[in-house]
Amino acid sequence: MRDPAYDVLFEPVPIGPVVAKNRFFQVPHCNGMGYRDPRACAEMRAVKAQGGWAVVCTEEAEIHYTSEVTPYIEARIWDDADIPALALMADRVHQCGSLAGIELAYNGLDGSNLHSRVAPQAPSALPVISGSSHPVQARAMTRRDIANLRRWHRQAVDRSLRAGFDLVYVYSGHSLGAAHHFLSRRYNHRSDEYGGSLHNRMRLLRELLEDTVEEAAGRAAVACRVTVDETMCRDGIDRAEIEEVIGELGEIPDLWDFVPGTWEDDSVTSRFSAEAHEEQWVRGLKALTSKPVVGVGRFTSPDTMVRMIRQGILDFIGAARPSIADPYLPAKIEQGRPEDIRECIGCNICVTGDYTMSPIRCTQNPSMGEEWRRGWHPERYRPRHADERVLVVGAGPAGLEAAMSLGKRGYQVTLAERSRTLGGRVASESRLPGLAEWIRVVDYRLGQISQLDNVEHYLESDMTADDALDHGFAHIAVATGSAWRRDGVARWHTRAGAMPTGTLELLTPDDIMSGTRPQGGRIAIFDDDRYYMGGVLAELLRSEGYDVALVTPEPLVSAWTVNTMEQHRIQARLMEAGVELHTSTAVSAVLDDGLRTECVFTGRESRIDAAAAVLVTARLPVDGLLQELSARRDEWTGRGLTSVRAVGDALTPGTIAAAVWDGRRYAEELEAPTDDADSTPYLRELTALDR
Ligand code: ADP
Ligand code: SF4
Repeated sequence: MRDPAYDVLFEPVPIGPVVAKNRFFQVPHCNGMGYRDPRACAEMRAVKAQGGWAVVCTEEAEIHYTSEVTPYIEARIWDDADIPALALMADRVHQCGSLAGIELAYNGLDGSNLHSRVAPQAPSALPVISGSSHPVQARAMTRRDIANLRRWHRQAVDRSLRAGFDLVYVYSGHSLGAAHHFLSRRYNHRSDEYGGSLHNRMRLLRELLEDTVEEAAGRAAVACRVTVDETMCRDGIDRAEIEEVIGELGEIPDLWDFVPGTWEDDSVTSRFSAEAHEEQWVRGLKALTSKPVVGVGRFTSPDTMVRMIRQGILDFIGAARPSIADPYLPAKIEQGRPEDIRECIGCNICVTGDYTMSPIRCTQNPSMGEEWRRGWHPERYRPRHADERVLVVGAGPAGLEAAMSLGKRGYQVTLAERSRTLGGRVASESRLPGLAEWIRVVDYRLGQISQLDNVEHYLESDMTADDALDHGFAHIAVATGSAWRRDGVARWHTRAGAMPTGTLELLTPDDIMSGTRPQGGRIAIFDDDRYYMGGVLAELLRSEGYDVALVTPEPLVSAWTVNTMEQHRIQARLMEAGVELHTSTAVSAVLDDGLRTECVFTGRESRIDAAAAVLVTARLPVDGLLQELSARRDEWTGRGLTSVRAVGDALTPGTIAAAVWDGRRYAEELEAPTDDADSTPYLRELTALDR
C-alpha cells in the first residue's frame, strides 16, 4: 500500500479531451533508435507504460524532409509511410494502459538536412546551429515557406491522429524547433509580421498552436513545449518575454511543457546540478495559465515530487532520465516500495546513445534499449534453468549486477569481495568531486540483494583459485575489475616503453582515489583516457591546493564528455579553478623534474615542470583469478564446475554502464552464453526488400 502522503501523485488529471490516470509523465526523449528501430522503440516505451507512467511520449518526430537532423536518429512522420512505425508505439503504449504522445518537430535552423540535401529553412539566413558545425546555412523563410510549414505541420497532426496518438506536441523548445527560433531575437532578424516585436516573433508559435488545436478537433490533446529562458544568451528569450508569451498564448494548448534553454541546459549531469534544479526557471509560470503544466528536474524522490505539486510549480512530474533509469518508478511509489526505485545517477550515458546514434543505454538500467532485441525487462527475470550455485568474485558494478540478477533468477549466489566495502570502482569514484550520486548504482543493488535470501555476500574475502574451486560452485563469475596502467599506454602510446620515464613520481587514478598524494606542489596530469577521470582529478587536486597542469591530446579537456553534454561545463570549471590546460598536447617523455610534451599536430616539443605526474591512460583487466582457473581446467569436472567467465572490467575495462550491462548479460546467458555464437544473438530491424 502506498504512503498516503503520495496520494496526490496518483490523482487523475484532465489534459483537454483526454485524462491522464496519474501525474507521472514521460516527456519526449531521444534514444538513438528512432525511425531505424521502430520495434525497439515501441517496446521500450511500452515498458514505461507498464511501469505506470500515465503519459508516454515519443522522441522528437521530424515532420518533413525539408528539416531533418541526420546523422541523429529521431522519429519521422514525413509522410504516410511513417505511420505504421509510430502506430506500433502508440498501440503498445495503449495496450499497457497509458496515453501516447508525439512531439512534432520542424528543426529549421537546427537541421542540417544531410539526408535530403535541400536548403534548411529558418527565420533568418544563418549557419545551422547543430553541434557539428556542418558547412550548411539556412535560408530565410518567405511567407510562402511559412505557409508551407503550417500546412506540413497540420498534415503531421493528421498523421499523428491516424497513428493513434492521444497528445500532440508543438515543439518550441531546446532550440530544436522552428517556433523557438522565431521567438528568439537571437535567431529572428525579420522585419515582416513574423519578426521585430515579441508579438510578431510569437506569431508562428500562435499559428502552429491554433492549427494543431483545429486539426486535432478534440480528438487529441495539444501540448506546447517551450523554452522559458535561453540562459546562455545575451539576446535570447528571457523571463519577461516568456511571461508575455504565456500571457498571450496560455489558453490555446491543453498543456504546457516548460524547459530551460537548450537540451544541455535541461539534462544537466549530477556533477553540475541537483534534483529539481529547473525549479528556478519554471516557478511562477503555472500561474499564467489555467492549463496543466509539466516540467522535469531529474525527480527520483517522491517527497520532492509532492512538493512540486503542493507548491503549485507543476501539475505533472515530467521525466526523461528517471523514467529511463527506472521505467517502474510510478508503480514502485504506488505499491509503497519507493526504496526499490532505481534512481537515476545523472551521468548522461543515456544521452550518449543519441549523440553516437546507437541504441540508448543506461548505467542504472541495463535493460534499456534491450527490451525488444534481447527480451530483457527492468523488473522481470527468467527463472533459473537448474538448481545451481554460482560464485561471483568482486562486488563492483559488474559483480553486484550479476549477483542481483542471478539471485532474482533464483540461483544460489555467493558474492565474495576482497576489500572492506562493496561497490568496487563506484565506491571510489563516487567520492570524487561532483560524482556523489553515482553511489546509487551500489545502493540500489545492495537494497535488492538484501531482500534475496538466496544471495549471500562476504567482505574481506580475497578469493584464490583454490578457494573458488573448493566449494562446488557450478559457475564462477570473475568480476575483479581493472587497474589503471602506470606505463603510459593508452591511445597516444600504444606500447609499453614508448614513453621514456625518468625519476619523477608517477601516480595513477587508483593511487589518488586510495588517498596517496604527491609530495610536491605542482602536478601534471596526462589525460589520454579522454572521458571524465582526468578532468575530475584535476578538479580534486586543484581544490586541495595543488598547482595542476592538465595535458591531453584532444583539443578539448575531457573530450568524450561532449557526448554527455557536459564538456563545456567541465572546461569552464577547470579554467575558473585555475587549472593550466595544455590541449592538443601529448606527453612524449617523463623527466626527473617534469614532463616533455609534444604538439599533436606539429610534434614541436615543450616541457612542463612538475613534482609529480598522474597518468590517466588505459586500464588493464585484473584477471589473475580467471587465468589461474583457466589453467586448472582439468580440475573443473571433478569439482562440479562447468563455467568460468570474466565479467565487466575484468573482461575489458569500460564505462560503469558497460560493467553493469555485462553483469546483466552474464546472468541472462548463464546457461547459454553467446560468446561463441555464429549468428547474431539479438534481434535487428532489417529492411525488407521487394526482390
Ligand atoms: P567492475 O567495474 O567490473 O564491476 P570494479 O573494479 O568496480 O569492477 O570491481 C572489482 C571488485 O573486485 C573490487 O571491489 C575488488 O576489490 C574486487 N576483487 C578483485 N580481486 C578480487 C579477488 N581475488 N577476490 C575478491 N574480490 C576481488
Ligand atoms: Fe540516469 Fe545515467 Fe541512466 Fe541516463 S544513463 S537515465 S543519467 S542513470
